[in-house]
Amino acid sequence: MNRKNLFGLTLDELIAELEPLPKFRAKQIAQNIYKHGKISFDEMTDLPKNLRAELSERYEIKIAELLTRLDSRDGLTTKFLLGFDGAAVEIVLMRHDYGNSVCISSQVGCQMGCKFCASTLKGLERNLTAAEMLAEIFFVEMFLRGDGQKLDSVVIMGTGEPLMNFDALIKMLRLLHEDYCLGMSYRKITISTCGVVPAIKKLRDEKIPVTLSISLHAPDENLRSELMPINSAFGLKTLLAAGDDYAQATGRRVTYEYILLGGVNDTEEHARRLAKILSGQLANVNLIPFNPVSERNFLPPTKSAVQKFFHFLNTHGIGATIRKEMGADVNAACGQLRAKFDGR
Ligand code: SAH
Repeated sequence: MNRKNLFGLTLDELIAELEPLPKFRAKQIAQNIYKHGKISFDEMTDLPKNLRAELSERYEIKIAELLTRLDSRDGLTTKFLLGFDGAAVEIVLMRHDYGNSVCISSQVGCQMGCKFCASTLKGLERNLTAAEMLAEIFFVEMFLRGDGQKLDSVVIMGTGEPLMNFDALIKMLRLLHEDYCLGMSYRKITISTCGVVPAIKKLRDEKIPVTLSISLHAPDENLRSELMPINSAFGLKTLLAAGDDYAQATGRRVTYEYILLGGVNDTEEHARRLAKILSGQLANVNLIPFNPVSERNFLPPTKSAVQKFFHFLNTHGIGATIRKEMGADVNAACGQLRAKFDGR
């Protein structure tokens, strides 16, 4: 008989599943799994032996299957391809000087159709469940614990549009934040969206003060609609208003991501328009030099275009940073490892 996987259940779900076991036992099991990373009931030495044997017969604790792993030459970036029921999902561990961070995927594939992105080339296969998203994070936490380290922050910026998988996303974030789980502060979590405006409002109403990153990529309606189909549904103006509203409600500065595409959106005129539309907002800009994708016909910006754009924003009242390129030798841009794996 197939054993049921307990990984990803909340404490309330564990209590219901394990009934008539007393609640404190469910709590011990939750802590064993999430806090102590025990994936075999035999290791749960605070449970009576006969209970451990009974649990092992009915249940398992399965996190994720490792399909392949790639390390950057500088040792700072490790990319893992994980398998969930036949789906391949990419995550990236980045060792920054301010701590360890993981970039996770929210969907298998993506339906948003952004013109420069590899993740959306084959459309959406399916949503990831809350348990699978938690497993992506947990996999890295366990990997780091093996090295005597820990995970400090999470960015949901891999394959997929997290706000199109809203309920599973919120369930996962709340579980991640629980004391019996990793107890991760919401402030250490960043969600990146292409601009699903109604879901940004829903996220605000959840009252979990995660950092919001909005993929802007263009300073006017026409260019943005050309690059990102979502802009035809929710235009730039509505998106900026939703971003401002999120910042006001949470007191958290919104980050606007801006991919620099050589010759497309990287001139001084674009920088001027960007500074204008963001002036007065509680916002930062993160400039991302385009990471070339073989299937896409865009060029990276020149070094000098990046510097000029960056300088223009910073001297016109907009705090901007340039995304540090990490792990270019392991294809750290989203979707690229998975695309290669699928194309075997
Ligand atoms: N759907 C979400 C999160 C996934 S994409 C979003 O759109 O924000 C994460 C970020 O990577 C986005 O800003 C996206 O536009 C950017 N991105 C996609 N392809 C890229 C590429 N080839 N080079 C650089 N950045 C890329």
